[in-house]
Amino acid sequence: MTQAFQCRRCGACCRIKDGIVRVSEAEIARIAAYLGMSEADFIARETEIAPDRKSLMLKSLPDGACAYLTAGNLCRINSVKPDKCRTFPFEWTNADSAQTCPGLRSTP
Ligand code: SF4
Ligand code: SF4
Repeated sequence: MTQAFQCRRCGACCRIKDGIVRVSEAEIARIAAYLGMSEADFIARETEIAPDRKSLMLKSLPDGACAYLTAGNLCRINSVKPDKCRTFPFEWTNADSAQTCPGLRSTP
């Protein structure tokens, strides 16, 4: 499946309502550095506490889209994006991922 996977650059995986993109300390450090922000500013302005209160996560816009998704469906922090984003769908999927991601469906 994953060898044949072709991303359609649709951005649907970055627009999941109530989606959670956790960020580790290392991810916070690298994204903050990339954005030219201090880690403290990045945490204060760009993250919020995850619903289970076990980690920080990236903030989303009111419609559920990640704040780093551009109008052209590109990731503004692509080179330093969190591992969760980098590894989908090659290393993990959810039961409903094929409904979200057209690249996981068989039709070209
Ligand atoms: S960080 Fe980038 S890849 Fe991850 S959800 Fe946001 S826009 Fe998508
Ligand atoms: S939903 Fe799938 S096809 Fe669309 S951008 Fe995300 S990984 Fe690519």
